[in-house]
Amino acid sequence: MKCLLKEDLERNGFTLRTDHPEPEPSYDEVKIKVLAASVCGTDKSIYQSADNEGIKDEMRRYLDHPDNYRPIIVGHEFCGIVESVGEGRETVRARDIDPDLVIEPGDYVTAEMHIPCGHCTLCRTGNAHICLNVRVKGVHLDGCFAQSVVVPRSNVILLGKRGDISSIPPRLAAMLDPLGNAVHTVQAADVGGKSVAILGLGPLGLMATLLARIHGAARIYVTEAVDLEHRFELAREFGADFFFDAIHGRHDLYETVRRQEKASGGVDVVLEMSGAAAAYEDAIRIVRNGGTIVLLGIPRHPLSEFDMAGGVIWKGVTLKGIFGRRMFDTWNTMLNLVRADKFGLRSRLIQMMAPKPYPLEDYRSAFQGLLTGQAMKLIFTPNPDAYAGD
Ligand SMILES: [Zn+2]
Ligand SMILES: [Zn+2]
Repeated sequence: MKCLLKEDLERNGFTLRTDHPEPEPSYDEVKIKVLAASVCGTDKSIYQSADNEGIKDEMRRYLDHPDNYRPIIVGHEFCGIVESVGEGRETVRARDIDPDLVIEPGDYVTAEMHIPCGHCTLCRTGNAHICLNVRVKGVHLDGCFAQSVVVPRSNVILLGKRGDISSIPPRLAAMLDPLGNAVHTVQAADVGGKSVAILGLGPLGLMATLLARIHGAARIYVTEAVDLEHRFELAREFGADFFFDAIHGRHDLYETVRRQEKASGGVDVVLEMSGAAAAYEDAIRIVRNGGTIVLLGIPRHPLSEFDMAGGVIWKGVTLKGIFGRRMFDTWNTMLNLVRADKFGLRSRLIQMMAPKPYPLEDYRSAFQGLLTGQAMKLIFTPNPDAYAGD
């Protein structure tokens, strides 16, 4: 089959293979034919791994020895059609379950690509999203920039029985994974009726803006460092009220928050979506005493200058880190939100995407567009004949 491989961590780029062996589902696994797969910041980091020690370390995390790296198929955001289901206990038990809840060949699905171990205490106490031994498909295991992918059955999310794609079009279904990160982040703080600052307007920051508005945030401040005109325009449409250049407009941000939030001395909630070092400084400067900072962006280097005393402790601030999606309550919430389609959620999510999908063969120009900031979010169609568009 066709797929994109990360062959060598010390070299930038991917390798297109057309003769890669197809994966076969084993016990309790499902094989899925990929309709659409979307590209995210993690994929960009993997694409440009040569001088990114953080991503290299992460990709080697579960190896016995760093030299034992073997090429993996990248990509972790996708939707598709079930091709086959591995033999397992489930096929027996399935007789007792409503047939519309059972995942069968032909069904339209997506999947949670964080694979928890199922054994550790976190897994066993409803916290599988922060499993001690989590493996991420497309980072530690083969992912979805391929014609087919195999996923544990318990990670598969049913979107439509018997190939029915009407509930969520594929280009949107391929984006549920990042939307879930944004939902998880916004839900980690109580934003209803609150003042909220969103630092970073990449796809996740824009999604968070829209979600904060849907959840009833009173005032939304946003910052971004690149492609300002375009991203501020989208953010305005998505519900933001105040806009700041994250490099040249920091003083304006502090001043505006000081004026607008005079009574409390800062914003109630900061959602850090950028990972930029300066954004952490902004976060602790603008959060009010007793406020909440939720961290989703991933800093490229460890933060050395961070005023923990003045910025967090003496202010009584709550810091929360967010990883992945809660399994599976975040999924449940986001599917409800997408189906309800309030505030034009669907059409706005689609607004962030490059208009035309890319076949895997065009991965170089696809990544070129992403790396230069021309495209925010784009999708691959590894099986162009099966992709019906929308
Ligand atoms: Zn992602
Ligand atoms: Zn675990």
